[in-house]
Amino acid sequence: MDPLTQNASLRDLQSYVAKLEAERGFDGRSAESQCLKLCEEVGELAGAVGALTGQPQDVRRRGSADVGDEAADVLLMLLAVVNRSGIDLEEALRRKEARNNTRQWR
Ligand SMILES: [Mg+2]
Repeated sequence: MDPLTQNASLRDLQSYVAKLEAERGFDGRSAESQCLKLCEEVGELAGAVGALTGQPQDVRRRGSADVGDEAADVLLMLLAVVNRSGIDLEEALRRKEARNNTRQWR
């Protein structure tokens, strides 16, 4: 599989994850299964942010969490989930932001 280019778009990332999953044999996993993995990764990201901001940590795991690594895992799993739903995330993001921009924020 070709590596990601430096200026890959969100669509490129989505396509990359589909290929990555096929290559690693994860493409047979269900949307529900990958959604659970996404939740796990969000928890790991929360733990990494907690460690970064001085929250008490399990001493056995202290120092092992990296916010960048966990954020990357979250993005990978998010794209794995949306790929199973036939969603173009860039299009969905633009559509949602267009609606968000009509809201009043306090
Ligand atoms: Mg992780």
